[in-house]
Amino acid sequence: MITSKTAFEEAGRLIPGGVNSPVRSCSAVGASPLFISHAHGAMVYDLEGRGYIDYVLSWGPLILGHAHPVVTAAIRIAAGKGTSYGAPTEAETTLAAMIVEAFPAIEMVRFVSSGTEATMSAIRLARGYTGRDKIVKFTGCYHGHGDSLLVKAGSGVATLGIPGSPGIPRALAELTIALPYNDEAALKAALDRFGEEIAAVIVEPIAGNMGLVLPKPGFLDLIRNLTRQKGIVLIFDEVITGFRVTYGGCQNLFGIKPDLTCLGKIIGGGLPVGAFGGRREIMEYLAPIGPVYQAGTLSGNPLAMAAGIATLDILQKKTADYEQLAADTEIFCGQLASLLQRAGLPGQINRFGSMFTLFFTDREVTDYETAALSDTARYARFYREMLNQGVYLAPSQFECAFVSFAHSRQDLAKTLEACSGAINDEAVKSEKAPSPCPLPLGEGKSEFLPCHHK
Ligand code: PLP
Repeated sequence: MITSKTAFEEAGRLIPGGVNSPVRSCSAVGASPLFISHAHGAMVYDLEGRGYIDYVLSWGPLILGHAHPVVTAAIRIAAGKGTSYGAPTEAETTLAAMIVEAFPAIEMVRFVSSGTEATMSAIRLARGYTGRDKIVKFTGCYHGHGDSLLVKAGSGVATLGIPGSPGIPRALAELTIALPYNDEAALKAALDRFGEEIAAVIVEPIAGNMGLVLPKPGFLDLIRNLTRQKGIVLIFDEVITGFRVTYGGCQNLFGIKPDLTCLGKIIGGGLPVGAFGGRREIMEYLAPIGPVYQAGTLSGNPLAMAAGIATLDILQKKTADYEQLAADTEIFCGQLASLLQRAGLPGQINRFGSMFTLFFTDREVTDYETAALSDTARYARFYREMLNQGVYLAPSQFECAFVSFAHSRQDLAKTLEACSGAINDEAVKSEKAPSPCPLPLGEGKSEFLPCHHK
């Protein structure tokens, strides 16, 4: 019988590391990946036929759960009419209209095939529009693996960035300034020093890639005010948060209008999609009406558009349900916090809407530095114990758990029971239990320890 283990070995002979995106290898938690045979609602099933309550949800897109019948029907119908034309379809305008209606800051939008493409293109557009080269990002935020964005902080605040991976030219990395998230003083210093040279500031308005980290009150307003003063394009990366916390973006909840917004994940209903959009004046800098080149063979793909339209159509009617989902997640997180307290385990739970992260640390987590204090070895043991109990969590401490509309209260109750078992498991409780992790934890990650990758 083929098992996840044998399938992984076979894959490893043909695909580097056996996976097409690094975090899936589960090396950060000393496990080998589940190979998925199918999924339905809140459940994924491995090759052995075991079901798991899924909090990864394809890293965020599946807010309606797996294989939602309306979404899969829309994909089937679209597929029956041809899978790609390389010519425009009305579905692109329909989805664009839905996005423009949902985001007051978006007047025009362009579709691409991934979140990486969205951020990469938005950065190029901001550079073309402003005629400036430098950009600012925040450490611990992940914006896909584009060269300008896979950059880590140089020594000292407001110094030039260094490549986050071999293969990224130093000369390009030096154009990226990486600052600590939530650090107003560092932001002011960098913009004072380099303001006239900076094309864009890109930020996850709720950070989901060092685990979940919330912006401190005033942080996003400060970014908005300073970028406006200096003529810098403000880019909100809402690839995770778009349609996750409300219908629209978390920018709607914060009442802040960025110049450009990047989207992905949910707007593709589980198919490969990204988008970037914003002020008309900036978007009109794009080819073919403007000078900034950007293109894609499968951009606006009819299957992806159909899945996105079907998904947003359902979400549009769920205003009260979003609130209920957030409330259920809040109750769950509260109960989880009590379990930790009773077991005497250090833990911080950051939550926003239906996203949360349990960090194994006793310090409040407000940025990359505090996230990185988490006990990743304990997370690894917790992950494996949860998996034993039929709950599929992200195979890294530095990710969010996502709850979907397909998760029932019974699913949450079962998950809590599993948490109780895992938290009280001797290996998880133990301070010193050896981790069977085949790699030293954090190897090769440096700033990118919050394992990007998906
Ligand atoms: N931006 C954010 C906030 C993300 O979380 C991700 C991926 O997880 C990306 C961009 C890149 O998206 P993709 O993996 O579709 O290229």
